[in-house]
Amino acid sequence: MQMKKVYCIGELLIDFVAENQGKDLTQAVQFTKKAGGAPANVACAISKLGGSAVFIGAVGQDAFGQFLMDTLMAHGVDVSTAQRSQTFTTLAFVSIASDGERDFVFSRGADQTLSYQSSLGKQLQDSMVHFGAATSFLGGPLEDAYGRYLIDAQAGDCTICFDPNFRTDLWKNNETEFVQKCLPFIAAADLCKFSHEEALLLSGKKELSAACAYLHQLGCPVICVTLGAEGTWVSTLGGGVLVPSVAAKAVDTTGAGDAFIGCLLQQLAETESPKKALAQPELLRQMVAKANAAGAFTTQKFGAIAALPTQADL
Ligand code: ADP
Repeated sequence: MQMKKVYCIGELLIDFVAENQGKDLTQAVQFTKKAGGAPANVACAISKLGGSAVFIGAVGQDAFGQFLMDTLMAHGVDVSTAQRSQTFTTLAFVSIASDGERDFVFSRGADQTLSYQSSLGKQLQDSMVHFGAATSFLGGPLEDAYGRYLIDAQAGDCTICFDPNFRTDLWKNNETEFVQKCLPFIAAADLCKFSHEEALLLSGKKELSAACAYLHQLGCPVICVTLGAEGTWVSTLGGGVLVPSVAAKAVDTTGAGDAFIGCLLQQLAETESPKKALAQPELLRQMVAKANAAGAFTTQKFGAIAALPTQADL
């Protein structure tokens, strides 16, 4: 049986993380360059676990774009469908001030230039497609491409996964617009991954089970709500269950959610029919337990991509 390809669509960017933590960006002096972008992290997670991941996104023709391409290729991700744009690579600068406040500057560049290719849309047929871009609803050709690839994925009977990756920094005072833009993806998805905060924001409910009931009504049959050290709340039309995580000595939780969904998608890609696998509660529970272990593993080392597990680690 052939393992399905997982297409991960969205942003790939540089995170410049301030080293002298405790100061805001006006005071920050040193920054460490890290490959970032949730859909790219997911692609690396899938590939590192032995799956077949394809990245669809855009970076600049500059050294940062080359570094990002090199990082994905080093992890075995297929980047033949990635685009190199005339625009500079997207950069995010982050620091944590001594009062715990995050200071964030976003210099949006190439990620938004991703142009839709109808030939690629046709290529998605029968595959798995992960929509997990934090930046896809911020306008530009990427937003248009996102909507079109969603239509192609539906027409091609793909297994569709959606992770909204809500970032407060990007949507201050525009949360309602963000929610509206997520709705068609929730409606089309076979699987959604939310944080607790996202599940409440997207549903407008105050409590998790009511939130999941509402989100199922929108059209998504399987919802995973990741709850950090506690594990994952898995909600299906038959009800909800908490799948506990394993103990971890967490030093950096960045990318745990991406490792989780990457590991779940990689396991689904190995089944005869991912949609049928999602409809089997015990199988789903087992897969989520393994995905929890992947998330837990990632918290034990610094960095999102550098900390991802191999099969031998799990
Ligand atoms: P996100 O990065 O999207 O916020 P989480 O932090 O909830 O996602 O992490 C995803 C998954 O990784 C969790 O559901 C859990 O299974 C696992 N995980 C995360 N943090 C820990 C931790 N401190 N201990 C054990 N497991 C963890």
